[in-house]
Amino acid sequence: MKKLFFFLIASLLLSAPLAISQEVSAFEKANNMLNQAPYVDQEIIVKFKEAGISTLSVATSEMEKLPIEGSCYRVKVSDNIQASLESILQDPNVEYAEPNYIVHTQKTPNDPDFGRLAGMKNIKAPKAWDVRVDASSIVVCVIDTGVDYNHEDLQANMWVNEEEKNGQPGVDDDDNGVIDDIHGFNGINNSGDPLDDNNHGSHCAGTIAGVGDNGVGVAGVCWKAQVMACKFLSGSGSGSTADAIKCIDYAVANGAKVLSNSWGGGGFSAALYESIKKAGQAGVLFVAAAGNNGSSTLSFPAKYCENNSVNGTNFPALKNVLAVAASDGNDQRASFSQFSLVSIKANNLVAAPGTNVLSTVIGNSYASFNGTSMATPHVAGAATLTWAQKPNLKVNRLKKLLVRRGNKVQWQENGTTITVRRLNVAKLLKREE
Ligand code: CA
Repeated sequence: MKKLFFFLIASLLLSAPLAISQEVSAFEKANNMLNQAPYVDQEIIVKFKEAGISTLSVATSEMEKLPIEGSCYRVKVSDNIQASLESILQDPNVEYAEPNYIVHTQKTPNDPDFGRLAGMKNIKAPKAWDVRVDASSIVVCVIDTGVDYNHEDLQANMWVNEEEKNGQPGVDDDDNGVIDDIHGFNGINNSGDPLDDNNHGSHCAGTIAGVGDNGVGVAGVCWKAQVMACKFLSGSGSGSTADAIKCIDYAVANGAKVLSNSWGGGGFSAALYESIKKAGQAGVLFVAAAGNNGSSTLSFPAKYCENNSVNGTNFPALKNVLAVAASDGNDQRASFSQFSLVSIKANNLVAAPGTNVLSTVIGNSYASFNGTSMATPHVAGAATLTWAQKPNLKVNRLKKLLVRRGNKVQWQENGTTITVRRLNVAKLLKREE
């Protein structure tokens, strides 16, 4: 009887917040969303209930269609953004509307100590290389600040769109909507040139697939690979949710199976959630940095691996999203790394080296960086190499293996010992399924 009573109370408590939050007014919704995180000035992402509808009652100066199923737009509003968003939220033709949140790279300031490739030993990459070094059958996309595709240690491992390479300059030879996209896409200016002007994306690409055994520089987790570059973060390392969505869509449409996402921030975005969900339906793995503020919650987009409830609507966890925390040389949590007990318990989070990571930067150079940004491409590389070895693995299964084949390591968090899995590439490749 007592147990039943407790259960009932628990159900009432659980259902109460939902009932209350369903009554959130448009004013409050708009206010909550705008106060949650920085956004692009005057920009709103709007999804209409029906395809073909794209008319708004508020004044707009710009509308760009986004690659979300149905009718979804990035809209620049002319009047006050709070009032415009509030008005759009009340429009009966609108399914959802949200600010175009700003996201950024997840790298911490450069460490003056030039690190070595200790991380590769830590994740047992050398033992994995006894089994396989070639992952060129699987396309992996770095969604970031771009990639220096001319770098001596990256060039041979870049994805090449043969039709564009052998086609005419200035012409969309393969008719995929982007002109001269030989190595990927630039979502900032919708061009085919994702050249890196920051270093961050090139650093991530080198961890995934710095050319191995070529006598120069570093070796990535994959010695041979096809790295597609999608740029949406600017030279300063920040970018918008709308441009991230365009990159995800391009990568999936052009054959990428693994997406490496060393960026985050912003608030919950229903449009970004839809975009990543669609990638999952296409069998694509979305690897994402946990974030660098040291807290016990994840940043978006990593947090889409958990259930989210926003303004009274529940968004179930996306099964193709894997969160990556950063560990140090002693397998402890890097002080800056975010983590989440919920994700750890549900096997949605894996740790990988994120301190003193040496990799490629622009202009045939090399540098050592720290961040969950640096941990993430270790996991994306491991996913790519594993999929090349075991092409029949389904995306959800591969994601679980990336966690469960990891070594158990213990972290002390607020006086409690928690067990986390740290990536082990050798176990991923050597063990039978
Ligand atoms: Ca093209």
